[in-house]
Amino acid sequence: MASRSASGTDTKPASSSRPSGSAPTRAAESPLVWESRAVLRLIEAGSTAECPHCQERVKFRARHRDLQVICNVYVDGVWDRVEQYHEECYTDAGSPHGEATKK
Ligand SMILES: [Zn+2]
Repeated sequence: MASRSASGTDTKPASSSRPSGSAPTRAAESPLVWESRAVLRLIEAGSTAECPHCQERVKFRARHRDLQVICNVYVDGVWDRVEQYHEECYTDAGSPHGEATKK
């Protein structure tokens, strides 16, 4: 018969002391977090916007149903500006304001 010898040394890690009382301070409560978003739309006649990617006008062309990406750009949760991209330019730029959604 084999006899087992259990080691009786039970070592517990010394509890490390943590600095307590550093609760995160909350800024002003906001029910919604405003983030930049992009929407896919048809280019309208009379559009004078300039595409920030290729620096060319986002021009309306009769009989072409060209799409543009309209971006509402928020900086630190505050609306800053609108940017209008050609649809392909927006994709080319790597969708800087999130994926363009159709509405
Ligand atoms: Zn463009």
